[in-house]
Amino acid sequence: MENYPGFPEPVLGQKLAKDMETQAKLFGLEIVQEDVTSVKLKGEIKEISTIYNTWKAKTVLIATGSSPRKLGLPGEAEYAGNGVSYCATCDGPFYPDKVVAVVGGGNSAFEESLFLAKYARKLYLIHRSGNYSADPILQDRVKAEPKIELMPHNVVESLAFAESPRKIMLKSTVSGETSALEVDGMFIFIGAIPNTGLFEGQLELAGGYIVSDREHATSVEGVWAAGDVQEKVLRQVATAVGDGANAAHAIHSYLMHRR
Ligand SMILES: Cc1cc2nc3c(=O)[nH]c(=O)nc-3n(C[C@H](O)[C@H](O)[C@H](O)COP(=O)(O)OP(=O)(O)OC[C@H]3O[C@@H](n4cnc5c(N)ncnc54)[C@H](O)[C@@H]3O)c2cc1C
Repeated sequence: MENYPGFPEPVLGQKLAKDMETQAKLFGLEIVQEDVTSVKLKGEIKEISTIYNTWKAKTVLIATGSSPRKLGLPGEAEYAGNGVSYCATCDGPFYPDKVVAVVGGGNSAFEESLFLAKYARKLYLIHRSGNYSADPILQDRVKAEPKIELMPHNVVESLAFAESPRKIMLKSTVSGETSALEVDGMFIFIGAIPNTGLFEGQLELAGGYIVSDREHATSVEGVWAAGDVQEKVLRQVATAVGDGANAAHAIHSYLMHRR
Protein backbone atom coordinates (compact mmCIF):
# COMPACT_ATOMS: atom_id res chain seq x y z
CA MET A 1 0.00 0.00 0.00
CA GLU A 2 1.31 3.43 -0.90
CA ASN A 3 -1.51 5.65 0.29
CA TYR A 4 -1.90 4.92 4.00
CA PRO A 5 -0.85 7.95 6.08
CA GLY A 6 2.40 7.73 7.97
CA PHE A 7 4.22 5.36 5.61
CA PRO A 8 6.43 7.24 3.15
CA GLU A 9 7.64 3.87 1.81
CA PRO A 10 5.11 1.34 0.46
CA VAL A 11 3.90 -1.08 3.15
CA LEU A 12 2.47 -4.56 2.57
CA GLY A 13 -1.17 -4.81 3.61
CA GLN A 14 -0.40 -7.96 5.59
CA LYS A 15 2.43 -6.22 7.46
CA LEU A 16 0.23 -3.24 8.29
CA ALA A 17 -2.51 -5.58 9.56
CA LYS A 18 0.02 -7.53 11.66
CA ASP A 19 1.40 -4.30 13.16
CA MET A 20 -2.14 -3.12 13.98
CA GLU A 21 -2.77 -6.46 15.68
CA THR A 22 0.44 -6.23 17.74
CA GLN A 23 -0.45 -2.70 18.82
CA ALA A 24 -4.04 -3.63 19.73
CA LYS A 25 -2.82 -6.61 21.78
CA LEU A 26 -0.71 -4.20 23.87
CA PHE A 27 -4.06 -2.75 24.99
CA GLY A 28 -5.40 -6.18 25.95
CA LEU A 29 -7.21 -7.23 22.75
CA GLU A 30 -7.89 -10.95 22.57
CA ILE A 31 -8.11 -12.38 19.04
CA VAL A 32 -9.89 -15.61 18.17
CA GLN A 33 -9.36 -16.84 14.61
CA GLU A 34 -12.50 -18.75 13.70
CA ASP A 35 -14.90 -18.49 10.76
CA VAL A 36 -18.27 -17.19 11.87
CA THR A 37 -20.97 -19.50 10.54
CA SER A 38 -24.13 -17.93 12.02
CA VAL A 39 -25.21 -14.99 14.14
CA LYS A 40 -28.18 -14.03 16.29
CA LEU A 41 -28.17 -10.26 16.54
CA LYS A 42 -31.57 -9.37 17.96
CA GLY A 43 -32.12 -9.29 21.72
CA GLU A 44 -29.95 -8.09 24.57
CA ILE A 45 -27.38 -10.86 24.29
CA LYS A 46 -26.05 -11.47 20.80
CA GLU A 47 -24.70 -14.84 19.73
CA ILE A 48 -21.84 -15.31 17.28
CA SER A 49 -21.31 -18.94 16.34
CA THR A 50 -18.37 -20.72 14.74
CA ILE A 51 -17.96 -24.45 14.31
CA TYR A 52 -16.05 -24.48 17.62
CA ASN A 53 -17.80 -21.95 19.85
CA THR A 54 -20.78 -19.72 20.42
CA TRP A 55 -19.62 -16.31 21.62
CA LYS A 56 -22.09 -14.18 23.60
CA ALA A 57 -21.88 -10.40 23.77
CA LYS A 58 -23.88 -7.30 24.61
CA THR A 59 -22.51 -5.52 21.55
CA VAL A 60 -21.13 -6.59 18.18
CA LEU A 61 -19.04 -4.64 15.66
CA ILE A 62 -19.27 -6.18 12.20
CA ALA A 63 -16.23 -5.64 9.95
CA THR A 64 -16.39 -8.53 7.51
CA GLY A 65 -15.42 -6.39 4.51
CA SER A 66 -16.33 -6.99 0.89
CA SER A 67 -14.81 -9.06 -1.88
CA PRO A 68 -14.25 -7.81 -5.42
CA ARG A 69 -16.34 -9.66 -7.96
CA LYS A 70 -14.08 -11.85 -10.07
CA LEU A 71 -14.23 -12.64 -13.78
CA GLY A 72 -13.59 -16.28 -12.92
CA LEU A 73 -10.79 -16.78 -15.48
CA PRO A 74 -8.19 -19.51 -15.10
CA GLY A 75 -5.07 -17.87 -13.64
CA GLU A 76 -6.99 -14.85 -12.31
CA ALA A 77 -6.35 -15.79 -8.67
CA GLU A 78 -2.73 -16.74 -9.35
CA TYR A 79 -1.93 -13.32 -10.85
CA ALA A 80 -3.98 -11.25 -8.38
CA GLY A 81 -1.58 -8.57 -7.10
CA ASN A 82 0.88 -9.44 -9.88
CA GLY A 83 -0.81 -8.33 -13.09
CA VAL A 84 -4.46 -8.66 -12.08
CA SER A 85 -5.86 -5.97 -9.79
CA TYR A 86 -9.19 -4.93 -8.34
CA CYS A 87 -8.07 -1.54 -6.95
CA ALA A 88 -6.74 1.38 -9.03
CA THR A 89 -5.87 3.63 -6.08
CA CYS A 90 -3.81 0.80 -4.66
CA ASP A 91 -2.07 -0.62 -7.72
CA GLY A 92 -2.24 2.17 -10.34
CA PRO A 93 1.14 3.63 -9.28
CA PHE A 94 2.78 0.30 -10.21
CA TYR A 95 1.96 0.93 -13.89
CA PRO A 96 3.82 4.13 -14.82
CA ASP A 97 4.06 4.45 -18.60
CA LYS A 98 2.63 0.92 -18.99
CA VAL A 99 -0.26 -0.52 -20.97
CA VAL A 100 -3.26 -1.70 -18.98
CA ALA A 101 -6.68 -3.14 -19.68
CA VAL A 102 -9.71 -2.28 -17.57
CA VAL A 103 -12.77 -4.52 -17.57
CA GLY A 104 -16.15 -3.02 -16.67
CA GLY A 105 -18.73 -0.47 -17.73
CA GLY A 106 -20.04 1.14 -14.56
CA ASN A 107 -19.01 4.22 -12.60
CA SER A 108 -16.14 2.37 -10.91
CA ALA A 109 -14.64 1.21 -14.20
CA PHE A 110 -14.89 4.71 -15.71
CA GLU A 111 -13.68 6.59 -12.62
CA GLU A 112 -10.81 4.20 -12.10
CA SER A 113 -9.86 4.34 -15.79
CA LEU A 114 -9.51 8.13 -15.53
CA PHE A 115 -7.37 7.63 -12.42
CA LEU A 116 -5.22 4.95 -14.09
CA ALA A 117 -4.74 7.13 -17.19
CA LYS A 118 -2.61 9.42 -14.99
CA TYR A 119 -0.05 6.62 -14.79
CA ALA A 120 -0.54 4.37 -17.79
CA ARG A 121 0.70 5.13 -21.29
CA LYS A 122 -2.30 3.39 -22.84
CA LEU A 123 -5.52 1.99 -21.41
CA TYR A 124 -8.02 -0.30 -23.08
CA LEU A 125 -11.50 -0.22 -21.52
CA ILE A 126 -13.18 -3.53 -22.29
CA HIS A 127 -16.92 -4.14 -22.04
CA ARG A 128 -19.10 -6.94 -23.30
CA SER A 129 -21.80 -4.74 -24.89
CA GLY A 130 -20.92 -1.06 -24.90
CA ASN A 131 -24.17 -0.24 -23.07
CA TYR A 132 -22.29 1.47 -20.28
CA SER A 133 -24.02 2.12 -16.97
CA ALA A 134 -21.45 4.79 -15.97
CA ASP A 135 -22.82 8.33 -15.57
CA PRO A 136 -22.85 10.24 -18.89
CA ILE A 137 -20.43 12.85 -17.52
CA LEU A 138 -17.89 10.13 -16.74
CA GLN A 139 -18.40 8.61 -20.16
CA ASP A 140 -17.72 12.03 -21.74
CA ARG A 141 -14.53 12.43 -19.70
CA VAL A 142 -13.29 8.98 -20.64
CA LYS A 143 -14.04 9.59 -24.32
CA ALA A 144 -12.07 12.86 -24.14
CA GLU A 145 -9.00 11.15 -22.62
CA PRO A 146 -6.63 10.35 -25.50
CA LYS A 147 -4.86 7.55 -23.62
CA ILE A 148 -8.09 5.57 -23.23
CA GLU A 149 -9.40 3.38 -26.05
CA LEU A 150 -12.90 1.97 -25.63
CA MET A 151 -13.22 -1.66 -26.67
CA PRO A 152 -16.94 -2.48 -26.52
CA HIS A 153 -18.36 -5.84 -27.61
CA ASN A 154 -15.45 -7.81 -26.17
CA VAL A 155 -15.01 -10.24 -23.30
CA VAL A 156 -11.75 -11.48 -21.81
CA GLU A 157 -11.51 -15.19 -22.47
CA SER A 158 -8.15 -15.99 -20.91
CA LEU A 159 -4.87 -14.59 -19.63
CA ALA A 160 -1.52 -15.32 -21.25
CA PHE A 161 0.53 -13.80 -18.43
CA ALA A 162 3.21 -16.50 -18.44
CA GLU A 163 4.24 -15.19 -21.90
CA SER A 164 6.44 -12.19 -22.56
CA PRO A 165 5.02 -9.72 -23.40
CA ARG A 166 1.90 -10.49 -21.40
CA LYS A 167 -1.38 -10.76 -23.27
CA ILE A 168 -5.06 -11.10 -22.64
CA MET A 169 -7.16 -13.04 -25.10
CA LEU A 170 -10.36 -11.33 -26.20
CA LYS A 171 -13.46 -12.66 -27.90
CA SER A 172 -15.78 -10.39 -29.84
CA THR A 173 -19.39 -10.68 -28.63
CA VAL A 174 -20.48 -9.65 -32.16
CA SER A 175 -18.41 -11.80 -34.52
CA GLY A 176 -17.09 -14.43 -32.10
CA GLU A 177 -13.56 -13.73 -33.37
CA THR A 178 -10.70 -13.97 -30.91
CA SER A 179 -7.72 -11.62 -30.66
CA ALA A 180 -4.72 -11.07 -28.41
CA LEU A 181 -4.08 -7.75 -26.64
CA GLU A 182 -0.64 -6.99 -25.21
CA VAL A 183 -0.94 -5.48 -21.74
CA ASP A 184 1.22 -5.14 -18.65
CA GLY A 185 -1.73 -5.56 -16.33
CA MET A 186 -5.48 -5.88 -16.11
CA PHE A 187 -7.85 -4.12 -13.70
CA ILE A 188 -11.28 -5.63 -13.07
CA PHE A 189 -14.15 -3.41 -11.89
CA ILE A 190 -17.30 -5.45 -12.22
CA GLY A 191 -18.63 -4.79 -8.75
CA ALA A 192 -17.98 -6.01 -5.24
CA ILE A 193 -19.73 -8.57 -3.12
CA PRO A 194 -20.25 -7.46 0.49
CA ASN A 195 -19.62 -10.20 3.01
CA THR A 196 -23.07 -9.87 4.54
CA GLY A 197 -24.66 -13.26 3.82
CA LEU A 198 -24.57 -14.02 7.55
CA PHE A 199 -26.65 -10.96 8.39
CA GLU A 200 -29.38 -11.16 5.76
CA GLY A 201 -32.84 -10.87 7.33
CA GLN A 202 -31.36 -9.56 10.60
CA LEU A 203 -30.03 -6.12 9.65
CA GLU A 204 -31.10 -3.44 7.20
CA LEU A 205 -29.04 -3.82 4.05
CA ALA A 206 -28.87 -1.64 0.93
CA GLY A 207 -27.51 -3.29 -2.19
CA GLY A 208 -26.17 -5.99 0.12
CA TYR A 209 -24.18 -3.52 2.26
CA ILE A 210 -25.02 -2.79 5.91
CA VAL A 211 -26.84 0.48 6.50
CA SER A 212 -25.42 2.39 9.46
CA ASP A 213 -25.70 5.89 10.91
CA ARG A 214 -22.93 8.45 11.41
CA GLU A 215 -21.82 6.63 14.58
CA HIS A 216 -21.86 3.37 12.62
CA ALA A 217 -24.82 1.94 14.53
CA THR A 218 -26.88 -0.48 12.43
CA SER A 219 -30.65 -0.98 12.41
CA VAL A 220 -30.35 -3.39 15.36
CA GLU A 221 -29.60 -2.05 18.83
CA GLY A 222 -26.20 -3.14 20.10
CA VAL A 223 -24.81 -3.87 16.63
CA TRP A 224 -22.35 -1.61 14.78
CA ALA A 225 -20.58 -1.94 11.44
CA ALA A 226 -17.26 -0.57 10.20
CA GLY A 227 -15.21 -0.66 7.02
CA ASP A 228 -16.01 -2.00 3.57
CA VAL A 229 -19.06 -4.00 4.71
CA GLN A 230 -21.04 -0.78 5.17
CA GLU A 231 -22.85 1.29 2.62
CA LYS A 232 -20.27 4.08 2.05
CA VAL A 233 -18.48 6.05 -0.64
CA LEU A 234 -14.75 5.33 -0.28
CA ARG A 235 -13.58 1.84 0.63
CA GLN A 236 -9.99 2.24 1.78
CA VAL A 237 -7.95 1.31 4.84
CA ALA A 238 -7.85 4.94 6.03
CA THR A 239 -11.65 5.18 6.05
CA ALA A 240 -12.09 1.69 7.57
CA VAL A 241 -9.79 2.63 10.44
CA GLY A 242 -11.75 5.84 11.02
CA ASP A 243 -15.04 3.91 11.01
CA GLY A 244 -13.62 1.47 13.54
CA ALA A 245 -12.49 4.26 15.87
CA ASN A 246 -15.90 5.98 15.74
CA ALA A 247 -17.78 2.71 16.23
CA ALA A 248 -15.56 1.64 19.15
CA HIS A 249 -16.13 5.03 20.80
CA ALA A 250 -19.91 4.70 20.35
CA ILE A 251 -19.87 1.14 21.71
CA HIS A 252 -17.90 2.27 24.77
CA SER A 253 -20.45 5.03 25.50
CA TYR A 254 -23.34 2.61 24.96
CA LEU A 255 -21.92 0.09 27.42
CA MET A 256 -21.10 2.78 30.01
CA HIS A 257 -24.69 4.07 29.90
CA ARG A 258 -26.22 0.62 30.23
CA ARG A 259 -24.36 -0.39 33.39
C1 LIG B 1 -6.33 -5.96 -4.13
C2 LIG B 1 -6.70 -4.84 -3.19
C3 LIG B 1 -5.77 -3.88 -2.91
C4 LIG B 1 -6.07 -2.83 -2.03
N1 LIG B 1 -5.13 -1.88 -1.77
C5 LIG B 1 -5.43 -0.83 -0.97
C6 LIG B 1 -4.49 0.22 -0.73
O1 LIG B 1 -3.38 0.22 -1.27
N2 LIG B 1 -4.85 1.21 0.12
C7 LIG B 1 -6.07 1.24 0.73
O2 LIG B 1 -6.30 2.15 1.54
N3 LIG B 1 -6.99 0.28 0.49
C8 LIG B 1 -6.71 -0.74 -0.34
N4 LIG B 1 -7.65 -1.70 -0.62
C9 LIG B 1 -8.95 -1.60 0.05
C10 LIG B 1 -8.78 -2.12 1.51
O3 LIG B 1 -8.23 -3.41 1.48
C11 LIG B 1 -10.11 -2.15 2.23
O4 LIG B 1 -10.75 -0.89 2.13
C12 LIG B 1 -9.92 -2.46 3.70
O5 LIG B 1 -9.17 -3.65 3.87
C13 LIG B 1 -11.27 -2.58 4.39
O6 LIG B 1 -11.07 -3.06 5.68
P1 LIG B 1 -12.18 -3.91 6.38
O7 LIG B 1 -11.65 -4.19 7.76
O8 LIG B 1 -13.50 -3.27 6.26
O9 LIG B 1 -12.30 -5.27 5.54
P2 LIG B 1 -11.20 -6.37 5.23
O10 LIG B 1 -9.83 -5.83 5.29
O11 LIG B 1 -11.68 -7.01 3.96
O12 LIG B 1 -11.34 -7.39 6.42
C14 LIG B 1 -12.48 -8.19 6.57
C15 LIG B 1 -12.07 -9.36 7.45
O13 LIG B 1 -13.23 -10.06 7.86
C16 LIG B 1 -12.96 -11.44 7.77
N5 LIG B 1 -14.20 -12.15 7.63
C17 LIG B 1 -15.12 -12.07 6.62
N6 LIG B 1 -16.13 -12.94 6.84
C18 LIG B 1 -15.85 -13.58 8.00
C19 LIG B 1 -16.50 -14.60 8.76
N7 LIG B 1 -17.65 -15.15 8.34
N8 LIG B 1 -15.92 -15.05 9.90
C20 LIG B 1 -14.75 -14.51 10.32
N9 LIG B 1 -14.08 -13.54 9.66
C21 LIG B 1 -14.63 -13.08 8.52
C22 LIG B 1 -12.08 -11.55 6.54
O14 LIG B 1 -11.37 -12.77 6.58
C23 LIG B 1 -11.17 -10.35 6.72
O15 LIG B 1 -10.07 -10.66 7.53
C24 LIG B 1 -7.37 -2.75 -1.46
C25 LIG B 1 -8.31 -3.74 -1.74
C26 LIG B 1 -7.99 -4.76 -2.61
C27 LIG B 1 -9.02 -5.82 -2.91
